[in-house]
Amino acid sequence: MHDVLVVGGGNAALCAALMAREAGASVLLLESSPREWRGGNSQHTRNLRCMHDEPQDVLLEAYPEEEFWQDLLKVTGGNTDEKLARLVIRASSTCRPWMRKHGVRFQPSLAGTLHLSRTNAFFMGGGKALVNAYYRSAGNLGVDIRYDATVDRLELQDGRFVAAFCGGERIEARACVLASGGFESNREWLREAWGRNERGEWPADNFLIRGTRFNQGVLLRHMMDQGADIIGDPTQAHCVAIDARAPLYDGGIVTRVDAVSLGIMVNRDARRFYDEGEDFWPKRYAIWGRLVALQAGQIAYCIIDSQAVGRFMPPVFPGVQADTPAQLAAALGLDVPTFVRTVEDYNAACRVGRFDHTVLDDCHTEGLAPAKTHWARPLVKPPFYGYALRPGITFTYLGLKTDDRARVHFGGLPSDNLFVAGEMMAGNVLGKGYTAGVGMSIGTAFGRIAGTQAAKAALHEEVAHAAA
Ligand SMILES: Cc1cc2nc3c(=O)[nH]c(=O)nc-3n(C[C@H](O)[C@H](O)[C@H](O)COP(=O)(O)OP(=O)(O)OC[C@H]3O[C@@H](n4cnc5c(N)ncnc54)[C@H](O)[C@@H]3O)c2cc1C
Repeated sequence: MHDVLVVGGGNAALCAALMAREAGASVLLLESSPREWRGGNSQHTRNLRCMHDEPQDVLLEAYPEEEFWQDLLKVTGGNTDEKLARLVIRASSTCRPWMRKHGVRFQPSLAGTLHLSRTNAFFMGGGKALVNAYYRSAGNLGVDIRYDATVDRLELQDGRFVAAFCGGERIEARACVLASGGFESNREWLREAWGRNERGEWPADNFLIRGTRFNQGVLLRHMMDQGADIIGDPTQAHCVAIDARAPLYDGGIVTRVDAVSLGIMVNRDARRFYDEGEDFWPKRYAIWGRLVALQAGQIAYCIIDSQAVGRFMPPVFPGVQADTPAQLAAALGLDVPTFVRTVEDYNAACRVGRFDHTVLDDCHTEGLAPAKTHWARPLVKPPFYGYALRPGITFTYLGLKTDDRARVHFGGLPSDNLFVAGEMMAGNVLGKGYTAGVGMSIGTAFGRIAGTQAAKAALHEEVAHAAA
């Protein structure tokens, strides 16, 4: 029997497995995917958000605890657990030497609309390299790893973990860490959560899944059925507007279109529906998926002119290009007169001051509803570009309620040998909203806590048994 069983094979699971192993526990990690698809959503990531009080290697200036906390408070609208959020924030300032020790390398941030050079440490080679480094290190340390190993249920006794079932096999361990993601890959569950709208549509049928197909929420559902304490709203998720041509799963980062704040967004009726310049892109990009989900047909169009080109990360699919707004509308299949009026009204309302995409500048609209409050410049320079966008689900926030020791709770009481980390508990910190890079900060902090606590619980039990 292993001391610690880790369920999942992404960042949170790997952090837990490494910490448990470093603490002296024997560890078995079960990853649902085949080896070539290992690493869940973590393989698609690029960075993590880090608190720091002064410049640190790839991070510029300072990003103090209070500023990080205020950012989180703002994006979640207060729907967060301050104690757990601060724990994540503080842990983000000290985790990188440990990550380096396990082979993760960092690089300075890329330019573009993300404004992240101060706040986020980028992984050299992206999340794929991070995940590969962790697997390599785990292998070297003697963590047992099994692929194609989906855990479908647990055997529990009075809130204690006894065993996991994996394809009919019963696997016992002294302690267990659940890090098997949200339910974002499960289209049926998304459909059920989002329901039918007033237009008779099932919005979730038009969602694309940005990451792995393996986060089916099997264990989340099972834990709910077992009476584990739950947190979060099933419709709340990290949800980005992505290119409508993206594949159903695993399109990854390159399907994102980061030009929204540089232009306008219109819906299927060729009308604007939200302030594209409300705040910096890292604080707003994750609300646009939801905004598009609320539009008819769950589709919207990002429109820019040539002034925006070169100011955002180039998306993988080229935009539809035209010499005039009317031609662009025709090419996108939008009503031409309505679209032209939308662009003209917007252009006429722009009050251009000093355009600066790196600050909340004074370029805004006047007398237009909805307003564009920053970076508003008339769309006048051909060629014009349009991108059809759909909601791209990154990860869901419904999860297991936990505490500062990453313990799963039943009826308000913590389990003493069952722990949770990553997306499966991110809803404790993220009730709604998102700020770029915090997913990996949460997974790294709680993965490490869960691994340490699981090892402690397992080794304590071992000692107790030996003494008995
Ligand atoms: C395209 C994209 C880009 C992103 N970019 C960033 C970024 O730059 N920074 C950031 O902070 N966050 C980013 N995120 C979010 C980030 O991926 C998550 O917050 C983080 O990876 C969650 O880690 P995790 O280990 O909880 O989940 P995952 O990495 O998804 O791991 C879950 C694992 O569980 C396995 N699994 C699922 N069910 C079972 C089961 N029943 N039995 C066994 N195994 C199971 C899966 O195969 C998978 O390996 C991004 C996400 C996507 C999709």
